[in-house]
Amino acid sequence: METYIRHIDEALKLARYALDHGETPVACIFVHEPSDKVIAYGMNDTNDSLSGIAHAEFVAIRMVRDMIQDNGGNESSLKELFKDITCYVTVEPCIMCASALKQMGIHKIVFGCGNDRFGGNGTVLSIHNDTSTTVYGMQQYEQTKLVPGIKRREAIMLLRYFYVRENGRAPKPRTKAERKLDKETFPPIEWNKYINRNQFIDNFGEAMAQHFDDNTDLQDDEIDWDIIENRHDKIIAMLQEECLNCSDILLKKKSRHE
Ligand SMILES: [Zn+2]
Repeated sequence: METYIRHIDEALKLARYALDHGETPVACIFVHEPSDKVIAYGMNDTNDSLSGIAHAEFVAIRMVRDMIQDNGGNESSLKELFKDITCYVTVEPCIMCASALKQMGIHKIVFGCGNDRFGGNGTVLSIHNDTSTTVYGMQQYEQTKLVPGIKRREAIMLLRYFYVRENGRAPKPRTKAERKLDKETFPPIEWNKYINRNQFIDNFGEAMAQHFDDNTDLQDDEIDWDIIENRHDKIIAMLQEECLNCSDILLKKKSRHE
């Protein structure tokens, strides 16, 4: 749990950075699980790049691919590496990204809040469970593991900041109610959309099971306002440095395959 929170915090800081730079506040980091190192990151870049597919996860996948290529790796070393990667993303991947992550054979996806309109890991479709899109040769037990609901309310709040600001910019002034920022109420989290009770206990332990039954958040305590209300302008430099130090992982992977 401590690891989940530590890494989702990095993704939340990056999402906040995106918000401060005119993008939708959605971001992800890819962590190499055996070494616990960040090897790639991405934030939404659809406004700036004018590309509808420049979602956070695609940006991070491209970064891993580039690193593998720079280190002389090939498609199979890429797939091999993804078996050890966990994607920490502030919002549930959309259908397109969920499908891309599945095809890369990613080990695990940890996310904050659900994606009500486009969610591909349970909210709208369950790409990870869909056998018709399972990559040939992929075993059932290799299915992507899901860990939803980590700092969910913080991820929701970042989206609310964004929408309130966008509404404020609309040419026709909207109603006051639409511009009002709600910091108090959050919808229940329907855990069983994403994972069943056994998977929940597997993720969080028996002691937390009441949250599954009640559709409540894991963290009963206060919302971590510090992380979402402050700017995190240094996050990019920090992540870049972490990623620079990860080429030894990639080189090890490569030599194992040659
Ligand atoms: Zn996406």
